[in-house]
Amino acid sequence: MAAPLIDNQEYPECLVCHAPLGYDSKMHGMMLCHEHRKCVDCGLDLTVIEVKWCVQKHIEEFKNDQKEGLEKRIEVNEITYTDLQVYHSRCYAYRYKPTVTITQTELDLLNICRLMIDPDLEKDFTENENKSFENAAKFIAGMNYEQKCKHQAKLEACLAEIQNAIKKDPHYKKESLAEREKSRYNDARKEALTSSRPASKTPNDVKEIQIGQFMEMHGISDRSTAKKIVADFNKSVQHMMKLGNTEPEAREFCLKMLRDTGRIKK
Ligand SMILES: [Zn+2]
Ligand SMILES: [Zn+2]
Repeated sequence: MAAPLIDNQEYPECLVCHAPLGYDSKMHGMMLCHEHRKCVDCGLDLTVIEVKWCVQKHIEEFKNDQKEGLEKRIEVNEITYTDLQVYHSRCYAYRYKPTVTITQTELDLLNICRLMIDPDLEKDFTENENKSFENAAKFIAGMNYEQKCKHQAKLEACLAEIQNAIKKDPHYKKESLAEREKSRYNDARKEALTSSRPASKTPNDVKEIQIGQFMEMHGISDRSTAKKIVADFNKSVQHMMKLGNTEPEAREFCLKMLRDTGRIKK
């Protein structure tokens, strides 16, 4: 297969042995099979980012080797990967310890950076976040005010970049949207249950909570259906109250209407 350059696309097969990649590997933009993504130094798996780093390095070296003595532009599809070797940058640094002057302190700092921002696909979101909290605290320990502010500015730039990349990702679709709505509802609900300051809730939060409660109470599993029903319900309740009914009366009447018309089951 002619291997394309590093970008956000999916790779259907391992660059080295052409074995087809599994769904997860493909989804995360992995370019190598499990066999070929092991570090030549320590034998442990590399992350997607580390693999990309090594592939990029391989491409550059390949081009340099081929160009030796001739004025030739190497096309992407001329690059071969049969001798591609991958390694952690940390392991690489250890290997070249005699020539690379990197102190243990620098190495530790690099490792903290990695643990702060490099996602670990073996762990879930919470565990990843906890690792970041832990290592961010280590990273900023001892920083002065200016360093902290500039560090924050850099992380915000990273965040903006990754948010942009996520939105452009073909996987950024309905599933993740539904997931986010659910967690927004959970957050709003938690807030509603624990907050003694109802004024801090936005009208949007209140709506989210009502939709969530409606789904729970009336066994509606589809959020957009629930949203529509709640909107109609609220409108009808308002209307009934204008006609002189109390709010409980109006609500009861409107719920009965929903049941009678089969829009809710219970
Ligand atoms: Zn392979
Ligand atoms: Zn390694």
